[in-house]
Amino acid sequence: MTNADPVELEKFGDLAHRWWDLEGEFKPLHMINPLRLDWIDGQAGLSGKVVVDVGCGGGILAEAMAARGAEVLGIDLSVKPLRVAELHALEAGAARLRYREISAEALAGETPGAADVVTCMEMLEHVPDPASVVAACAALVKPGGWVFFSTIHRNAKAFALAIVAAEHVLKLLPKGTHEYAKLIRPSELARWARDAGLGVAGFRGLEFNPLTQRYALSTDTSVNYLMACRCPG
Ligand code: SAH
Repeated sequence: MTNADPVELEKFGDLAHRWWDLEGEFKPLHMINPLRLDWIDGQAGLSGKVVVDVGCGGGILAEAMAARGAEVLGIDLSVKPLRVAELHALEAGAARLRYREISAEALAGETPGAADVVTCMEMLEHVPDPASVVAACAALVKPGGWVFFSTIHRNAKAFALAIVAAEHVLKLLPKGTHEYAKLIRPSELARWARDAGLGVAGFRGLEFNPLTQRYALSTDTSVNYLMACRCPG
């Protein structure tokens, strides 16, 4: 049984052609990309590293990491975003960038411990068993390597901002993008990482300011947040 929700995969498949539209449904991903890229690069030093991007979608982060000199494999279980990612990489002339339709769990079975860095952004809240994906990310990374996750907190403020405001008021995201019950507390994510043998290295919040229409990294993890982990060396 694959750890995937067909309805979720179809949702991203239906929007695939919009992936690189800077003003479209994936605008928030484009807006946060430089922030998360710098945060990851600053800790893991991407140049020359072997990176797996789990749930890569249309390749916004994967392509940016390749441009920083990493050798990147983007994986996803939705085919259309992968095709869009491949086309965009071709147009951009991106080197050292490949895409595959395979689950994190299956890739971890094929090439355990092969990656210097694993990234898994804005994906865990869309899968039936996120702890299994966290364990697969831990299995993919080599000793001393880095694993980065991002997702959305599950609390009243996150419901108000990440679902009600983002989907219904500001219309930053299509309605139904996120389901409250599938959001993940930082404590839960940290526990899954530790259970998988990773050390938790740090958290950052991603805050959206509706007045300036900009995102910034912060220490407030109460809505959108990132977690850095390290595999013991
Ligand atoms: N990580 C990218 C895209 C986030 S959108 C970024 O942050 O820019 C969420 C992605 O997760 C979609 O492309 C969707 O197809 C993918 N996804 C959802 N469930 C998945 C699963 N079980 N395995 C792999 N990818 C999955």
